[in-house]
Amino acid sequence: MVIGAGIGGLTVARALALRGADVTVLEQAPEITEVGAGLQVSPNGAVVLRALGLEAALSARALEAQAVSLRDYGGAPVVRIDLTQLDMRGYYFVHRADLIDILADGARDAGARLRLLQKVVGVTPGDRPRVDLANGASLTADLVIGADGLKSTARAALNGAAAPFFTRQIAWRAVVPDDGASPLEAQVFMGPHRHLVSYPLRDGRQRNIVAVQERAAWAAESWSQEDDPMALRAAFGDFCPEVQDFLGRIEKVHLWGLFRHPVAEAWHGGGVALMGDAAHPTLPFMAQGACMALEDAWVLADELDGTDTLDALLARYQSRRRDRTQRIVNAANGNAWKYHLSFGPLRWAAHTAMRLGGTLAPE
Ligand code: FAD
Repeated sequence: MVIGAGIGGLTVARALALRGADVTVLEQAPEITEVGAGLQVSPNGAVVLRALGLEAALSARALEAQAVSLRDYGGAPVVRIDLTQLDMRGYYFVHRADLIDILADGARDAGARLRLLQKVVGVTPGDRPRVDLANGASLTADLVIGADGLKSTARAALNGAAAPFFTRQIAWRAVVPDDGASPLEAQVFMGPHRHLVSYPLRDGRQRNIVAVQERAAWAAESWSQEDDPMALRAAFGDFCPEVQDFLGRIEKVHLWGLFRHPVAEAWHGGGVALMGDAAHPTLPFMAQGACMALEDAWVLADELDGTDTLDALLARYQSRRRDRTQRIVNAANGNAWKYHLSFGPLRWAAHTAMRLGGTLAPE
């Protein structure tokens, strides 16, 4: 049984169902859908989709990226990574709704059942782990996979309740019209206490914008809200004309508080396992949150193919994943610091280091 029909939950559902498992996915929402925004799927995520037979569907709806450019907020180039020159295949820009569609179809086609309006309110590990639903029903299964995101109920069952903390960063996200002629390139503009990422989507007639700013507090009750495009334009008013052009096209924008919790100590126990953001939410500065969920799904299904006890298989899953995801979380935190430097000489030194060392793309 899988809790959560997000990127991680749907992927593991297909991976397990293809191996012959009887899989049910419980999703709290009334429909399987996603916010209108883009996602970068780098080759480590795309390889999972390829292995699950979904890369053709992905490439039909995504754009294959050719480069990632890091630039100063005044527009000056810092480093350009030409992906066509690297020995890697499958770096995609995809609309999140399209990826979720592909994964949901993929899970259903493999035989998984997707059940909507099933809000999980309690998870009890044990010989036969139990899931309690908001509608009063209780379900048991051989294995419960918590793919229920940042506010995971499954995580709390294994690690104790802990509220995610505000990272002092907020993100605006918008999709604007584009002319279909832009280069297939992610552009990252780095300024003091802020950065902005933009890349084309779908047939190039849309453009994704993510703008991150440091902020002392998050006052809103919900974690995301619609915002006035003028607030975003004002916050990035000193960025170069290209950015002003993107921002000028925004009609509707959402603002998110970026919240996290530490990488979970216990990823499994009593027939319950964690994956994706439930185990390791990362700051959106490396385009790796969703890719880590894809990797988790593959490794978890791969380990569950083994013949050992469930506990031993899940322990191997945790040991294959925990250090890697912790490294990615740390690297994303480090990028936040590097992208947002405000002191001139330090910015110069950081940009020089990027030129010499390259870097992974933020989201
Ligand atoms: P989620 O996508 O959070 O899915 C969890 C699912 O579980 C949801 O469908 C939810 O409704 C369901 N659920 C939750 N609780 C319950 C419950 N109690 N009962 C039943 N169902 C439940 N990553 C990228 O790779 N690229 C990006 O461009 C990017 N941009 C981001 C921008 C922002 C502002 C943020 C906040 C994150 C971004 N991320 C990005 C990170 C990425 O979105 C996540 O890492 C990824 O979606 C994690 O997938 P998941 O399946 O683990 O969790």
